[in-house]
Amino acid sequence: MSEYDLIVVGAGPGGSIAAKIGAEKGLKTIFIERGRVPGEKNSSGCGLGPRIWRDFPELMKDFIGNPTLPSQRPAKLIYSHFVDETHRLRYTEAWGPSDSVTYWPAKEWIVMACYRSDFDPWLAEFATGAGAELKTSTLVIDLLKDEKGKVCGVVTDKGEKIKGKVVIGADGVVSTVSRLSGLQYKWGKSAVTIVPQIDFKADPKKIDKVLGDACSGIWAGTDFPAAYQVWFHDGMHIGFGNWLGWYVEKKNPMSYMNTIINIPHFRKLCELTDAKPREIQVHLLPWTWNPVKTHTDNVILVGDAAGFPCPLEAEGVYPAMITAKLAVETAAKCIANGDTSKRAFDAYDDAWKISSVGIEFKGGRSLAELWRASMFDLDAMKWLVPFYHEVKGAIGDWSQPHIVRIREILAELRKYIPKLLPFALSYVVPLLSDVFEDDVEAIPQIESMIRKMMPKKKKNKVS
Ligand SMILES: Cc1cc2nc3c(=O)[nH]c(=O)nc-3n(C[C@H](O)[C@H](O)[C@H](O)COP(=O)(O)OP(=O)(O)OC[C@H]3O[C@@H](n4cnc5c(N)ncnc54)[C@H](O)[C@@H]3O)c2cc1C
Repeated sequence: MSEYDLIVVGAGPGGSIAAKIGAEKGLKTIFIERGRVPGEKNSSGCGLGPRIWRDFPELMKDFIGNPTLPSQRPAKLIYSHFVDETHRLRYTEAWGPSDSVTYWPAKEWIVMACYRSDFDPWLAEFATGAGAELKTSTLVIDLLKDEKGKVCGVVTDKGEKIKGKVVIGADGVVSTVSRLSGLQYKWGKSAVTIVPQIDFKADPKKIDKVLGDACSGIWAGTDFPAAYQVWFHDGMHIGFGNWLGWYVEKKNPMSYMNTIINIPHFRKLCELTDAKPREIQVHLLPWTWNPVKTHTDNVILVGDAAGFPCPLEAEGVYPAMITAKLAVETAAKCIANGDTSKRAFDAYDDAWKISSVGIEFKGGRSLAELWRASMFDLDAMKWLVPFYHEVKGAIGDWSQPHIVRIREILAELRKYIPKLLPFALSYVVPLLSDVFEDDVEAIPQIESMIRKMMPKKKKNKVS
């Protein structure tokens, strides 16, 4: 039976970083991937956040313009389109990095789009380059346990038994390691999303001409959950995620997809860029404000396996990479000390909680609640879309002298007060409490101000 210090299950972003750092620390490391190549089984595209460049500079220094990553396209502008119930485009806006952004490349672009079929194999090469052994086309189907019932390795679909001091579960949302180590059996209905997505092939020159600096965007409407669109060098994705429980009560996910791809403005963009559907995909993605239990004796979970995608936007590649780094740093110390117990691995939780990922989760609940109650709530979008249009778009029209327009807009906005103020109390105030954690006085003041502005309920007259 082969024996390793570190067995990493999965060669996605989390697995490759875990294997790379393990090998660099001198641990005998293997990473095992069910796909024929890393990235084969993953969502075919993604936007990479700039924190990856900030926190992994050595790794990322050769990314931009690298010919082995031909699908890359920076999002110097992100747009959002709002359509009404007739699917007429009511409002479009685009934004780029602002002056308050503190580091490169975040100053230049918001995300870098790159197909996972490019990115994952590229990343895995850093791990093999550092000396980790990669085993592909191999599914981990079971965990080896010692006489005390503690995990001490893995069993593959080829019948191999591989022993290891520590097993890192980097095997994504449907994690065999998490389930068989007893950390989590299955996701709750409101902790995991179903993400239907269509990948389109498109003409690179036309993409550049039509999109310019823009690369990704959001589509919001009143009869579909908010959708994302990402433009790559020679293709495009449209997709949307919503929680499992949401679909149970509503329609089939693909019926919303049909709605989105038939929006006239979306079709126009496809026509202008020669976009043709290439593949329909449906993925699962954890989207929760509480990562699961992350470790037990001899086992640590990273990335999606532990529920680490950002609770607001479900950015998951950076969290997978950073949690993998912290997990293996913890594991290496524990192996050196001869103690890989659950208690020794508590240091992993201490580390991720103070990391960039942990900060995201601290305010996670209020962010996720706000998102769920707006872009993903079709009833709320029925008033939020026209409200937003009125606030942001209406002032630019020439139908009246501008001062008259402002009066008209304000009169129109009054209509929204009965919906807007309770919404602000339920979702915006809790978010502000998380944001201004040190300024305890401000929040009750804002709250009481909103309450004072609330329309009074009419008293029933008693005759
Ligand atoms: C449609 C969609 C779009 C997304 N867009 C973005 C985006 O734009 N930006 C972003 O940052 N994040 C995005 N995400 C989230 C991101 O893809 C994940 O959070 C990220 O891939 C997590 O990395 P990971 O290494 O933890 O897991 P994964 O990337 O899922 O990697 C797990 C690996 O383990 C392998 N594996 C699984 N089980 C086994 C087993 N039993 N044996 C062997 N191998 C196994 C899989 O084949 C896979 O390669 C998106 C997710 C989806 C579904």
